[in-house]
Amino acid sequence: MTILGAEQLLNVWEQGLNQPLLQRALMLLAAAFPERSAGAFATMSIGERDFLLLQLRERLFGQHLSNTAVCPQCDERIEWQSRIADFVIETNSGEAKAAGFELQAEGYQLRFRLPNSLDVAAVANAGGAENTAQQLLLRCVLEVKRGGVSRANQPLPEGVMQALTERIESLDPQADIRINLTCPGCGHSWCALFDIASFLWAEINGWAERTLQMVYRLAAAYGWSEREILNLSPVRRQLYLGMVAR
Ligand SMILES: [Zn+2]
Repeated sequence: MTILGAEQLLNVWEQGLNQPLLQRALMLLAAAFPERSAGAFATMSIGERDFLLLQLRERLFGQHLSNTAVCPQCDERIEWQSRIADFVIETNSGEAKAAGFELQAEGYQLRFRLPNSLDVAAVANAGGAENTAQQLLLRCVLEVKRGGVSRANQPLPEGVMQALTERIESLDPQADIRINLTCPGCGHSWCALFDIASFLWAEINGWAERTLQMVYRLAAAYGWSEREILNLSPVRRQLYLGMVAR
């Protein structure tokens, strides 16, 4: 992973503004991990991708994060704190990278792969919230046999689909980041999903707006160019800003 400077991060942010969230996440990874081919991020499993996004988040903004959630019981907005390390699941990363896996369920033999960003994008673009999870699964099925006979393009029983879902979850646990929350208002406890891609993008968005405001104020006060200001360390920018306010 490379250290993204302020100017570089602003460039990625600007390019990502008119892109869907998925594309933004892939652009961030391509900038942060230049040692890998840019196309690799789209085809890695969701868990593998999110693992890298967690690493990038820690590098950019540190371990600690605070977020909000709405209690499904009483609608109260609660704030919760966590650490990036709490979300990282140690897995056998070699497993997630394998090209195909096998599953036996209800007399069916399936060969499948793990869902990746391209699958998620394809299902999202297909529109219609109906059966999104099912469509995603079917994209990942490479081969279906029953009693040794190929059963391509035929619907799979619900039990087989369920077994496939569970197997994919166990092979790629990092794809599903969950946090247990308890509402201080009504005591209701629930398990909330945490989406690192949207969380990190929202943080970068806020950072970019604050940074551009700082550039404006420093440029107005000292006549420096945007690049000169962005090349200063955050500490120096803050100190110079403090002198302006005096
Ligand atoms: Zn509540």
